[in-house]
Amino acid sequence: MTRTYAGRLLCLPFLLLAVTAAFAQAPRPLDDPAVEARISALLQQMTLEEKIGQLNQFSGGSGAGRPDYRQMIAAGQIGSLLNVTGAKETNQLQRIAVTQSRLKIPLLFGSDVIHGYHTVFPVPLGLASTWDPELIEKTAAAAAREASAEGVRWTFSPMVDIARDARWGRIVEGAGEDPFLGSVIAGAYVRGYQGAQLNDPTSIAACAKHYVGYGAAEGGRDYNTTEIPERLLRQVYLPPFRAALDAGVATFMSAFNALNGIPATANSFTLDEILRGEWGFRGFVVSDYSAVKELIAHGIANDDGTAARKALIAGLDMDMESGLFLNELAKQVHSGTVPMGAIDQAVRRILRVKFALGLFERPYVPESAPAQTLDPAHLELARTAAEESFVLLKNHDAASRSPLLPLRGALRRIALIGPLADDSGNMLGAWAGKGDPKDATTLRAALAEYAPTAQMQLVYERGTEIAGGSEDAIAPAVEAARSADVVLLALGEHASQMTGEAASRAFITLPGLQEKLVESVAAAGKPVVLIVFSGRPLALTSVVDKVGAVIQAWHPGLQAGPALVRVLTGQANFSGRLTVSMPRSVGQEPLYYSHLDTGRPADNPDFPPLKGLEKFRSRYIDEENTPLFSFGYGLSYTRFEYSPITLSTQTLSARAVNSGSQVLRVTAQVRNVGDRDGVEVAQLYIGQRGTSVAQPVRELKGFARVALRAGEARRVEFTLGKKELAFWNADMKEVVEPATVTVWVGPDSRSGSVAKFTITE
Ligand code: BGC
Repeated sequence: MTRTYAGRLLCLPFLLLAVTAAFAQAPRPLDDPAVEARISALLQQMTLEEKIGQLNQFSGGSGAGRPDYRQMIAAGQIGSLLNVTGAKETNQLQRIAVTQSRLKIPLLFGSDVIHGYHTVFPVPLGLASTWDPELIEKTAAAAAREASAEGVRWTFSPMVDIARDARWGRIVEGAGEDPFLGSVIAGAYVRGYQGAQLNDPTSIAACAKHYVGYGAAEGGRDYNTTEIPERLLRQVYLPPFRAALDAGVATFMSAFNALNGIPATANSFTLDEILRGEWGFRGFVVSDYSAVKELIAHGIANDDGTAARKALIAGLDMDMESGLFLNELAKQVHSGTVPMGAIDQAVRRILRVKFALGLFERPYVPESAPAQTLDPAHLELARTAAEESFVLLKNHDAASRSPLLPLRGALRRIALIGPLADDSGNMLGAWAGKGDPKDATTLRAALAEYAPTAQMQLVYERGTEIAGGSEDAIAPAVEAARSADVVLLALGEHASQMTGEAASRAFITLPGLQEKLVESVAAAGKPVVLIVFSGRPLALTSVVDKVGAVIQAWHPGLQAGPALVRVLTGQANFSGRLTVSMPRSVGQEPLYYSHLDTGRPADNPDFPPLKGLEKFRSRYIDEENTPLFSFGYGLSYTRFEYSPITLSTQTLSARAVNSGSQVLRVTAQVRNVGDRDGVEVAQLYIGQRGTSVAQPVRELKGFARVALRAGEARRVEFTLGKKELAFWNADMKEVVEPATVTVWVGPDSRSGSVAKFTITE
């Protein structure tokens, strides 16, 4: 089934404008004078201890050494709990807060609802690869419905960290390397979770995390230091957070990392000056897990009291799990080092969100028996999301010189090989919420169901383990390959051990003996389709030439198998595109398409090396600069062609664009020149030269998913105005400057139709 997007062919800046305008008219949920008055009245009644209790969040669970939450809740010492879920469980504790605590302030239950809750969708990097914000919004709304039914009214999502280093394990949790795409996707998640009204019982508050710069961890090592100059911070790392705020996000989470020497948890520049001062954020900021205490390890506090004081004063409102706010802040207020006003302000921000969620009116959730089965509509959404998230990287059958996929009638006997072919747990991905492996359908299970209906035969061999294992299992896999017409190799990473938090890798190839397995199986001489389940772009250089087709499948969620069968057999077409550059080797990291050119670019024909100086280029002596597969890239079962670009004008005036009175329209026609229906992701890039600060060689500034029947053509139109053309200039002002601008409209970040225009004074 091919989805159509009729009427959606205008570029996203248009859509974004429409969304922004809608928010401007809607009542601002965190800015209600009646609520402010109720908060003031409450603040007047609260003791210092009760105020500090609101700033305190503990993790649930009954492990040894945990405080007795029931007594603490009754005493007003806890404002929020994480990791307590279930209608019964949350209601039980809520009842204590609402009936036994003096001021009856409800608890807020938070949880990591990251890519689904019971229904697990593809990991966020996979969801991003759909380039489909509407679909992402739907997945977030589905997750909100499931989580809110269990009393969870707050998710620690979306993670909007820009990540350009594939070694970093948490690259899987975000939308990839690009700030424009990351911003669009950030907004989609927030709208999905928070719905039209936060106080709808099925809405949950979103949390933009990790604020800020966490993805720039040096060397890709988790929690590591980041050094990000202000311009880069504003141009690359902050925009998705700003987009989340523009979509109405209720909370932020501060990051673990130190940003330019000051931990993000106690960074007044980012928490106070930018977030509150410049952006006017009215919700609250929670720390990351025990991060207030970690200020001591960071080296900016020598004791608990100083750590708590520095975080609060910098603009942090809620302490996740460290207990330092609870144990230290009262002393600080009594000694005069923390003003009561700072405490009141943090309490106000937290209560604002509790009021906005309607918790004072409806603190409990219904305890009717939980549904025994997953919602079929959610499962269907999970299948569609998985289908759209797959990226076809290569599709070429060496023997027939034609595409290897979709599997045709002649390929009747399939050898399915690999440790991820039948591993339901790893289909779920990192941070899988309440996902249950027994609800996941593996590729093996789905193929076993499909094969008889298509007169196909299936043989299965595990071949090797994800990591470790012995070479003994390889021989039977090779035997199975020999006996088959086609081989499907299901390889990749372990979801929780190799991707996500604290799972950075220094080697980013297929782990264990998997490369050896590819080599051995390929030597059997049968066409091989490699399906890579991973949470990062792996360096596939040494295997890609040995196989005919490569599918980047990420960790696809509950519907992994059915979705893969549909694309493998051509019942669905591929439409996913990379949102991260796939490296040739780890030594290229960090790797991203929107880099600066340098004075000695290696691969810009406009600036060839001087004669005799060919060596002195910005490059490696032993590796290409270019990625193995570029940002934006992905194949389809059909082919698309782009017409030349039409510009509405050749010249813009910087003054007019800055004042909002002038824009430029870019149009091109996209034609499906193949014989199948398909969806193209048309991408608009610009590159500016002659500006006060060097700009990236290319930057994404618009995209459109275009559904085209075989032979059909459509016009895509993008607008370039202040939002797209402004950058942070030499005076640290966000403005449009005179420049020569190259525009590309095309299928990825390295090709496309091209045009130029000028921006004058
Ligand atoms: C992670 C956060 C997460 C939090 C609560 C931390 O370790 O960095 O992303 O939301 O735990 O589970």
